[in-house]
Amino acid sequence: MDLTFSPKETAFRDELRAWIAENPPEPEPVDGGEDAKHRWRRDWQRRLYEAGWAAPAWPTEYGGRGATLTESAIYFEEIGRARVPLPANTLGVLLGGPTLMVWGTDEQKERYLSPILSAEEIWCQGFSEPEAGSDLASLKTRAVKQGEEWIVTGQKVWTSGAQYSKWCMLVARTDADAAKHKGLTYFLMDMEQDAVQVRPLRQITGEAEFNELFIEEARIPDANVVGGVGNGWNVALTTLMNERAGLGFALQIRLRQTLDDVIAAAAERGLLENALYADALADLHVRCESIRLLAWKGLSDVERYGQPGPEGSLVKWLWSETNQRLTQLAADIVGADALTTGEEWSYELLRARGNTIEGGTTEVLKNIVAERVLGLPRLKAAA
Ligand SMILES: Cc1cc2nc3c(=O)[nH]c(=O)nc-3n(C[C@H](O)[C@H](O)[C@H](O)COP(=O)(O)OP(=O)(O)OC[C@H]3O[C@@H](n4cnc5c(N)ncnc54)[C@H](O)[C@@H]3O)c2cc1C
Repeated sequence: MDLTFSPKETAFRDELRAWIAENPPEPEPVDGGEDAKHRWRRDWQRRLYEAGWAAPAWPTEYGGRGATLTESAIYFEEIGRARVPLPANTLGVLLGGPTLMVWGTDEQKERYLSPILSAEEIWCQGFSEPEAGSDLASLKTRAVKQGEEWIVTGQKVWTSGAQYSKWCMLVARTDADAAKHKGLTYFLMDMEQDAVQVRPLRQITGEAEFNELFIEEARIPDANVVGGVGNGWNVALTTLMNERAGLGFALQIRLRQTLDDVIAAAAERGLLENALYADALADLHVRCESIRLLAWKGLSDVERYGQPGPEGSLVKWLWSETNQRLTQLAADIVGADALTTGEEWSYELLRARGNTIEGGTTEVLKNIVAERVLGLPRLKAAA
């Protein structure tokens, strides 16, 4: 893997850097809560879209730039370096769009991809249920065919951004008699119907980023099945692999910035001379670098195999643990301020708790790495 940029890649980076410098986002709103922040990020995505920067990795026919993987990595690095937000429709751009590109029909690609990029239609991910998180295949939400429609009833939970979403990537059981992975189907469900109730769940940070979804005989046209009836497990895996690989790359850049901020906070307090802190910061630096190189390796894998591989799980696992260590160290360095509501470090410290759960828990990711990356035997239940 050669990380030196070619003249074309350097030109790509310079063009993006210049565009961001000339078109910075509006300042982040301080009033108006989460809704105002969402509007602000949505407006930013619209501007990225108009300039062709919402998702450079997408093919040009769908509104991207057909950027290479290296250019795509440069994109995330530059967005991170400039400290501007990611597109508001993160789940649509990083998960939903790429899943449709693999499994969607031409009509579905034509209908859904462009409004994802322009942030006209926000997407959410309706996978987890009260009794199906890690073991997603045991989900109970059921869909029954009636004429040209599917009637869906069930409950989803932890659905991030559902309150702003037009479309939900929904996995439901369509065959109760089939083996549990085989009886699932992947749908695009219109959230704007009375049969879908969205109830916010408040987190430790005070914000309600995710929700419960109560679905009572919602209707989904047959044309909104993605990848074929009974094939939902395979389609969902595409979404999950994109989640771990795509987000992993963006997040490792944010991790580096947080580490730089912590180093600056330690320097301000004269703590870099303290062996205890210097040691902890050096350890985090080494971790950040390994995660960065693993994320780059993940991109090479996509180049080689066409889709992200299970190694994305390794990046997600290491990132979440490192971010928790880092925000804990920040709290030790900053002191009481980090425990004060509304302070930046207190938010970072509390939000990091969910990192080892969201997008696959650390325990489950370790199983994936053990079995599918290292090729170790599956753990058998004790007799
Ligand atoms: C901030 C945040 C945002 C989220 N957003 C979404 C979203 O938008 N859409 C969505 O569908 N979901 C979302 N989730 C849900 C997330 O995917 C689940 O929480 C996660 O998959 C774990 O499922 P669970 O909570 O049911 O825990 P469980 O699966 O019940 O796990 C409980 C514990 O058992 C452990 N465990 C379970 N199985 C195994 C095993 N085989 N081996 C070893 N240990 C095991 C787990 O590691 C965990 O510690 C979000 C979660 C968070 C925290």
